Amino acid sequence: MTMRVDLVGLTKHFGAVHAVEDFSLTIQPGRVTVLLGPSGSGKTTLLKMIAGVLRPTSGDIRFDDESVIDLPAPERDAPMVFHNALLFPQLSVEDNVGFGLRMRKTPPTERSRRVAEMLELVGLHDLRTRRPEQLSGGQQQRAALARALVVSPRLLLLDEPLANLDPDLRGEMRELLLTVQRSLGLTVLLVTHDQEDAIVIADHVALIRGGSLVQEGVVRDFFERPASAWVAMFFGAGNLIPGQRTNNEVVTPLGRLRVISESPAMGAVLVTIRPESVVLDAVEGQANTFQGRVVAAEFRGSHILMRLTAGGIDLEATIPVDDAKSHAVGSTVRVALPPEKLWPLPAD
Ligand code: ATP
Repeated sequence: MTMRVDLVGLTKHFGAVHAVEDFSLTIQPGRVTVLLGPSGSGKTTLLKMIAGVLRPTSGDIRFDDESVIDLPAPERDAPMVFHNALLFPQLSVEDNVGFGLRMRKTPPTERSRRVAEMLELVGLHDLRTRRPEQLSGGQQQRAALARALVVSPRLLLLDEPLANLDPDLRGEMRELLLTVQRSLGLTVLLVTHDQEDAIVIADHVALIRGGSLVQEGVVRDFFERPASAWVAMFFGAGNLIPGQRTNNEVVTPLGRLRVISESPAMGAVLVTIRPESVVLDAVEGQANTFQGRVVAAEFRGSHILMRLTAGGIDLEATIPVDDAKSHAVGSTVRVALPPEKLWPLPAD
């Protein structure tokens, strides 16, 4: 079952704390929307309001155009799965998974069938008689997911479901989530502070800061068209060069830089460029070239992160591991910033 969710001017104040402020977003049916933001930005508060366990101070929540503000949590069909799986310790895996169906008085034969189906889907069929304490963290997480899915929810709310998992399991869970979501056509809202989760999982990303929506779109937009310097830095843009822009030119401490960009920011700007777009060993005739000095070279597994300085500006660039030898710390290098990779942002 798929469902569209509209959050309309959603606001939650806890006394003087403005946890969520005038937040509007459409969560598309059958898609994975990731709500991304730093700690304390209001993500969990938003999720709880949608689940129905927290009442908004103002604003509306609509499921397929119908307000659910006055609908109690159990009737919303929007279960929440937390990073700590919150399974019932005294129940077996299959009884945990079947709990929601038992509450709904689903006949035993149908209940067994649906539980078995769901355990199969999350790969826990062989462990169905174990209690939660006999499962690993990742298995508990999968059991919690199965428990939420077995009731065929209209909307699945996931609060940092990957937070307690090591990198291997994280990858596995991400894949499982996507497989389940695609096969059931579920509408999913997943909360995380980890931009990698967003990159891998999201069809659509909403970035929240201080309770307000700062940008939404597909992941690529956040890399290529960040709405502010804060967004750019959150997504690891790495470089911010102050300057004064007129049309296609920005006057900066690195010289006059030509920009080819749809960004409307003019006047005082911060020009951002991702480290992987900075070119070292620029060739004759390239645009936006200048001399830089290598300050540090840090091994990052798949690449080397080069720290450079030029015109009093610190810059980051990434290069293949094998190229590091030709750029010793202290040496100079000809740098180029391709005009189409520069993205000017308002300076304030
Ligand atoms: P994290 O990623 O750390 O879980 P979050 O983005 O989920 O953070 P929330 O838990 O929604 O953030 O909290 C948003 C703000 O509201 C925080 O400043 C928090 O301290 C505050 N807050 C949350 N719940 C309450 C409450 N019951 N009473 C008072 N303040 C609260």
